[in-house]
Amino acid sequence: PQPAQLVRIEDASLLAPRLSKAGGGHKYAHGHLVVIASGAGQGGAARLAARAGLRVGAGLVTLGPSRDAMAEHAAPPDALMRRALDSAEDLATLLSDDRIAALCLGPGCGVSRAGALLRVALEWRRPLVLDADALTALSQRPELRSLVHPGCVLTPHGGEFARLWPDIAARLAAPAERGPAFSRLDAARAAAVDLGCSVLLKGPDTVIAAPDGAAAIHAAQDLGWLATAGAGDVLAGLISGLMARGLEPFKAASAGVLLHAAAARRAGPGLIADDLPEALPAVLAGLG
Ligand code: AMP
Ligand code: MG
Repeated sequence: PQPAQLVRIEDASLLAPRLSKAGGGHKYAHGHLVVIASGAGQGGAARLAARAGLRVGAGLVTLGPSRDAMAEHAAPPDALMRRALDSAEDLATLLSDDRIAALCLGPGCGVSRAGALLRVALEWRRPLVLDADALTALSQRPELRSLVHPGCVLTPHGGEFARLWPDIAARLAAPAERGPAFSRLDAARAAAVDLGCSVLLKGPDTVIAAPDGAAAIHAAQDLGWLATAGAGDVLAGLISGLMARGLEPFKAASAGVLLHAAAARRAGPGLIADDLPEALPAVLAGLG
């Protein structure tokens, strides 16, 4: 592969044109995001992703819980719509609304339900974030890999990455004497080329790679308190919210990581995941 073109994702100007709501525009013009998350007992993941999507400026968020989890979402504070999504048919019907701008599939979803919805989500061929249970479902369905497209961002942590790309993960884990060093960035780039989509490998260092060779690194060793339940769900919501607003996948992934870290820095060591979306208005205002 060509050498990595590293972008400085600390450069917040990346975001400025998209974050302004100046000049009016209908809520649909600011992007309608559908968050498919949360089976019964997993309501938190959906709420976190949806709030992050709203805070980053999606005009509208529809939550898609399973039917048996609809009651858990009876009074979502601000996500304006709910749709029970259990089957491929449910999702196909929803996606026939062409105002929907982006889809986030996976957080708290349940692997079998994510698997049931995955083909339709991929065949939609529009901006799509796959996280958590959707990544596990994809690793169990090799026949769907060829449907992954450049409009997708996959956001695995190390374990999810190893399930999807065991051979690449093995090179990452190999001792140095077995060959030239193979970095997490090399791994993300190999994965991005393999599936032809943007891949964001999470951890204290987050690396992001696009299939065209673009890549970014974000070091956050000083943000250990981000290792908390739900932090990844917020990140998936941020990225898909930015995609709903029209940012291209690699830029949305890079900017999402930047905002996530800035929100964590602002919240400080007492952070719980719920604080991240709430810290965003101040972070966004500070971008100027
Ligand atoms: P998940 O594994 O899906 O819950 O996502 C965890 C989130 O926290 C990701 O955005 C990681 O990059 C971030 N994270 C996890 N551990 C650390 C750490 N030790 N330092 C900084 N960020 C971390
Ligand atoms: Mg996660």
